[in-house]
Amino acid sequence: MADIIKLLPDHVANQIAAGEVVQRPASVVKELLENAIDAQSNTIKLIVKDGGKSLIQVVDDGIGMSTTDARLSFERHATSKIQKAEDLFNLHTKGFRGEALASIAAIAHVEMQTRPEEEEVGTQLKIEGSEVVSQEVCVTPKGTSLSVKNLFFNIPARRNFLKSNQVELRHITDEFHRVVLAHPNITFHFYSNGSELFNLPKSNYRQRIVHIFGTRANAKLVPVKEETNVIKIQGFIHKPEFAKKSRGEQFFFVNHRFIKSPYLNHAVVSAFEGLIKTDTYPGYFLYLEVDPSSIDINIHPTKTEVKFDDEHTLYAILRSTVKHSLGQFNIVPALDFEHDQNLDTPYAYKNKEAKQPQVSVDAQFNPFLETSGRSSFTKQGHSAVRKTRGQWESMYVGMDQSVGDDTSFSSVHLESDTITGSVFEDQLDVAHSVATTFQLRRKYIVTSIKSGMVVIDQNRAHQRVLYEKLLRNMTVKQSVSQQLLFPLTLSFTKSDRAILEEIRKDLTHIGFVFETLDEESLKITGVPLLIPENEVGTVLDQLISDYRQEIAGESFSQADILSKTLSKSLSVKTGEVLECSSQLALVNDLFACKESRVSPFNKPIYIMLTEQDIEKKFI
Ligand code: ADP
Ligand code: MG
Repeated sequence: MADIIKLLPDHVANQIAAGEVVQRPASVVKELLENAIDAQSNTIKLIVKDGGKSLIQVVDDGIGMSTTDARLSFERHATSKIQKAEDLFNLHTKGFRGEALASIAAIAHVEMQTRPEEEEVGTQLKIEGSEVVSQEVCVTPKGTSLSVKNLFFNIPARRNFLKSNQVELRHITDEFHRVVLAHPNITFHFYSNGSELFNLPKSNYRQRIVHIFGTRANAKLVPVKEETNVIKIQGFIHKPEFAKKSRGEQFFFVNHRFIKSPYLNHAVVSAFEGLIKTDTYPGYFLYLEVDPSSIDINIHPTKTEVKFDDEHTLYAILRSTVKHSLGQFNIVPALDFEHDQNLDTPYAYKNKEAKQPQVSVDAQFNPFLETSGRSSFTKQGHSAVRKTRGQWESMYVGMDQSVGDDTSFSSVHLESDTITGSVFEDQLDVAHSVATTFQLRRKYIVTSIKSGMVVIDQNRAHQRVLYEKLLRNMTVKQSVSQQLLFPLTLSFTKSDRAILEEIRKDLTHIGFVFETLDEESLKITGVPLLIPENEVGTVLDQLISDYRQEIAGESFSQADILSKTLSKSLSVKTGEVLECSSQLALVNDLFACKESRVSPFNKPIYIMLTEQDIEKKFI
């Protein structure tokens, strides 16, 4: 048999390696920013066009490269950062694999200008699909400028896989956040399509967070600090009341590198236990420092996962540190009794005035009168007991009759009704009126229909009702707005502001009235009737983060995304107690919807049980 194994040419090997390192423009941004940081830069500029599809450029004022280094930097496994495998366990740089530039140059048009401080002139290199097109001497400032154009020009399948410019820009922004949060001591500028998105001066951790997430972020932060001989922890957690329904702002940095760690995340989340609702996520910015020899970073090509030597200890320290911060800043209630739900006032009675049980005395009552036929026990004169007076005998007659007889059941009922009667009058009413709905485990509404019964998921049903209502308002462009007596001023990050601008029209159509105050803040003078005034900020935050995620997925139109996300945040949740009238209204609204079977997120809203279904179960 003829030999069939061949060594792959370098450019093919590079293209394959690129598949691991470069998934989308954001991956290039990450690699280039990290190279600039490793080059000890003070100021780094990121410039992108069309979501990074046409251009990604990073300009730094770092150490630059000699001509030979410039040329070598594009070779695979060419790095100045490590020399031997052991160096991996003493890393102080972001990069070490020596494959980013080689990979990027294999799948894009790359141009580099670089000059070390001591040289008078620099080097300019152009590489297209791993081929050096030109190499020249050039005049350039100290440092390196690297631009990457036409990403995936030679891999159409990859190029087609890219999402819209907006979505890619969001991925880039996320990556940018991760890098700049880890390095507040470096100045960063970020321009997209000619406009400046971020201008982040050199600062400390807290200021960096505020510069990125807006002045409103400051009030949310609770400092965290701990130093042991295995780990140093510093940073911030969000106060529990700012927990979000999405995992927006959760950042772990280990030795100044952003990492993802479900395990450590669990440690933090568990420290918040009991302080936040189950379906919400706390925000955090935690900077961990450990001995480089105690971690392995080389377990994932994008280096976002880390293996720790002693994860369990870190877990325990992290959890108690976060708990301590929550306690120290008086966030945890001072006395933390076990919460007994049985002691809660039923929701329906919360806003009602307490009614005193009435005591009425039967002035005519004479215990010595034979005709009265009652024991002195009734002297208490409790009106409820009085009510049963007339039926006193018949009650016992009923009980005397055989067990299993209908009447015994009803007499038990009668008794319990009369006891609660005067205090909880409404309940009595419900029991006696035609009860058409009831709530099961604060989650479902059960109601009977002609052919049997339906069990409705209250949260999904309400989502559907709100969704159709909002969508209608947006499309017919008429809505009811509630004018605020005192306008609200809210501040947002630049990227959040950009999203609000994007969806401004639709927001107006559902009832938001707002004007721009300055780069960061909005003055809100009107809000949709559906939204309580004190929740406007949270709803908008939620809307922005959902919109960000949703747009990354597939959806038809802006109005659709908005209605979906708003319906999600405004809907009645599982666990909420609904009064009978609200249950009924919800059921009616649901069946008046154009589509009542599935929620806006395509989940079934109700199940139906016909009489036959029920009968079958009794066989
Ligand atoms: P790595 O970062 O893993 O070493 P790269 O392919 O990203 O691999 O870069 C290869 C080498 O090119 C680096 O080790 C570094 O010496 C050099 N280099 C890359 N970018 C820069 C830069 N902006 N400034 C100075 N040197 C750089
Ligand atoms: Mg690198």
